[in-house]
Amino acid sequence: MRPQTVKELDGIRVLTKEAELSMKFERSLAEAVRFLERNQICEVGLWKEFVNIFRRQTDGDAIVWMTWRSEFWGKMMRGACMVLKYTGDDDMYRIVEASVRDILTTQEENGRISGYSFKEEFTRWDLWGRKYVMLGMMYFLEICRDEKLAEELISSMCRQADYILEHVGEGKLDIRKCAKHWEGLNSCSILEPMVRLYRLTGEKRYLEFAEYIISTGFILSGNLVELAYEDKVAPHEYPITKAYEMMSCFEGLLQYYCLTGIEKYKTAVINFGKRIVNGELSIIGCSGCTHELFDHTAVKQTRPEADEEDVIQETCVTVTWMKFAEALLELTGDVTYADAIERSFYNSYIGAMNTHRVPTSNSMYSLVGIMDYLQVLPFDSYSPLVSARRGKRIGGFNFLHNGGSYGCCACIGAAGAGLIPQFALLRSENGIVINYYEQGVIKTQTPTGAPLSVTMETEYPYDGKVSFTFETDVEEEFEIKFRIPAWCEKAAITENGKTVSVSSGYASIFRKWNKGDTVVLELPMPVKQILPPKGAVNEDIFAAYMRGPIVLAADKRITDPDDVLDILCDDMGNVAYTISNCPEIPESKLCLEVSLADGRKVRLIDYASAGKTWTDESRTAAWLYRKPMQ
Ligand SMILES: [Zn+2]
Repeated sequence: MRPQTVKELDGIRVLTKEAELSMKFERSLAEAVRFLERNQICEVGLWKEFVNIFRRQTDGDAIVWMTWRSEFWGKMMRGACMVLKYTGDDDMYRIVEASVRDILTTQEENGRISGYSFKEEFTRWDLWGRKYVMLGMMYFLEICRDEKLAEELISSMCRQADYILEHVGEGKLDIRKCAKHWEGLNSCSILEPMVRLYRLTGEKRYLEFAEYIISTGFILSGNLVELAYEDKVAPHEYPITKAYEMMSCFEGLLQYYCLTGIEKYKTAVINFGKRIVNGELSIIGCSGCTHELFDHTAVKQTRPEADEEDVIQETCVTVTWMKFAEALLELTGDVTYADAIERSFYNSYIGAMNTHRVPTSNSMYSLVGIMDYLQVLPFDSYSPLVSARRGKRIGGFNFLHNGGSYGCCACIGAAGAGLIPQFALLRSENGIVINYYEQGVIKTQTPTGAPLSVTMETEYPYDGKVSFTFETDVEEEFEIKFRIPAWCEKAAITENGKTVSVSSGYASIFRKWNKGDTVVLELPMPVKQILPPKGAVNEDIFAAYMRGPIVLAADKRITDPDDVLDILCDDMGNVAYTISNCPEIPESKLCLEVSLADGRKVRLIDYASAGKTWTDESRTAAWLYRKPMQ
């Protein structure tokens, strides 16, 4: 079977990805990618063990928290392929390709690739795991260098999907009853690979199955598609509020819209996205301060965690939000979503990286007497907002058959960094859109297809000056849009020696571009006090501080986050500061000294570098006490 591209409807996509595009960044993203290569993507044994899950098929028989292991392979494969698309690294490719060939050997005669035995299939997290197997294969297809393997993969996915179609759907098993969790929300997220499979094959039955899933409304006790379309209530008021699974369903719905152009679904998806931006996000760019649920996070984020076992701000939510926001950015061209990705990446995402390689003692499991399990995972599963320590628990913790273990948030990790090159440069009707600034080079094309290279000289996000040099072989007239982040108040662009001030949003330069043209972007980064939104819990008690896109944090190694830190600022919320050294935390990217009302001076560091020992020694907070709690 040959892959067949279904023609996209005209005018649907406002921004699109460039087909011929290469990037090489040298700072934040380069560091993240190196970390992922070393600690996740090149771990051959881990890939083998993830495939073994499908040979043993014991997830359905296991005790309750061992039932979602079948998500691991596809979830890590998706992220690995996103990173590979950026690096093009041959060694990494060989490792990943070997695992794809390996999982193909686990396919049964009947088409199943499942972590569940035949007897236990279509329960718990079975469809969720199968979704990830198909997604993993689909992302691999985008980088696959072997045409025969690509054909095998498409054929495999069709057989996997056909088996599901045989048993689930109208007049068969209700997809929402194929799981007892979250009223079937997890199972319904198989919508995305079904839509993508139709896009790949043009086989109508997959589109019809996608339509069936959408008609269910994703849960038993309500219809989330209708709720989003009507837009009368926020996601935290829906009957089910599980953030990660819900966004996964809406990612599928967005894909379905892009294929069919049915306006109602576009409205539903955009309403849902706006509701997240306007009420469900924290200062670090994650959602959920009540475990892993949408909970009106904007007003709940200043609630101290109840106890040492309390967890908030799941890493799976951060990464899924970044992915969904990127799709919304392409769909709408709304710069808000690009700003949101930046916020999540520099704060909650990089903050969750286990750069100190701390083994986590998963106290919950030792409490119930299983074992005091020591494990080094690449990502923390949860992120603190008000004073707490990192590394409290492993989200989605599962033992592997070889005695090791893994977690859902560790597994999703690579997709976060892998997303950055995908939104860094997009194409608009009249030219290109630059969303992401980092020292490095982007090679792309002008609208007529001539090679265009964009060199960025910058220390962004730690300094707001970005110097661009554009190289083209031919003089050509087109538009280049530069993202001016919403946090930036007095941005300026200098072009051929002439400086103009620009406001937040996209600043556009439409002109003839010549070889060696330069543009300098100045994005001033004063330190700003951020107060909780009106009506927030403990509204008068807390404040946060940001410099550019970077959230500043107290880390107990230098400043106690449980102290009252009444930081001086002027009426406009500007905080006077000096750049400082931080010998106690040498890996910190930014350290500032600020003055308190009581005359003391304290130092704050970038949130992403704080808390990294994962012990009370480095307790950390993004929301700092201005006053003591009553
Ligand atoms: Zn997770």
